[in-house]
Amino acid sequence: MSSLEVDQADVYYGRVHALRHLSFRVEEGEIVCLLGNNGAGKSTTMNMLSGLVRPRSGAARWNDLDLTTAKPWDIVSAGLIHVPEGRRIFSTMTVHENLLLGGYTVRDKRLIDQRLDQVYELMPRLAERRRQQGGTLSGGEQQMVAIGRAIIGGPKLLLLDEPSMGLAPLIVKQVMDIISAVNTHGTTVLLVEQNARAALKVAHRAYVVETGEVTLSGTAAELAKDPRVVEAYLGA
Ligand code: ATP
Repeated sequence: MSSLEVDQADVYYGRVHALRHLSFRVEEGEIVCLLGNNGAGKSTTMNMLSGLVRPRSGAARWNDLDLTTAKPWDIVSAGLIHVPEGRRIFSTMTVHENLLLGGYTVRDKRLIDQRLDQVYELMPRLAERRRQQGGTLSGGEQQMVAIGRAIIGGPKLLLLDEPSMGLAPLIVKQVMDIISAVNTHGTTVLLVEQNARAALKVAHRAYVVETGEVTLSGTAAELAKDPRVVEAYLGA
């Protein structure tokens, strides 16, 4: 069984100790969520897994790949695809052109076409807007393009950094349903969220990260009932 394993990872930015002995696992087929407030270290964790930030100590492995030394290009080519916070779609390119950018590591044109069909089937709203410029899309539609672009790359493990950010509750639900569907089609998902309510509905398991370390973990159902999570992340 393939899995992602982070063991006692420490990341520093100069004197800032951003990740402190961070450890967690994601098994194949799961949706696992890292919950945490601003500055908890969620984006740093994602950037470490994509090879953009290197830990000073500790391990991060995905199957046989050592993520602490592998090049970002090789990590993407192996199927670990990161959808960064803030979507970063190109505003003057169409939806279709933005999606095609996700295929930059894919040599087989037919595979790209097949995956484009999958994306348009999963997100019909993008099919309707395929010729519309990225910058004119709503926030939810831009998030769909960001997820769709990752799907074109053929993710085995999808890293999603705060997909609900800035979206109205109804749109958050639509995006979470898309994440669930992507997972059902066979993609393992690591989801990073401040929106614990939405994330715990879609995740199988979750870890709470506070100032760079894991303070709680369990199944999503367990954490949704945990008084510490309810008080700190779910509100009244
Ligand atoms: P947010 O949800 O606000 O993006 P986060 O949980 O993703 O928060 P990170 O962005 O990973 O948190 O930041 C973790 C810590 O590292 C914070 O204290 C942040 O200020 C610090 N940090 C992040 N990037 C840098 C950087 N490039 N240089 C210095 N400190 C940084």
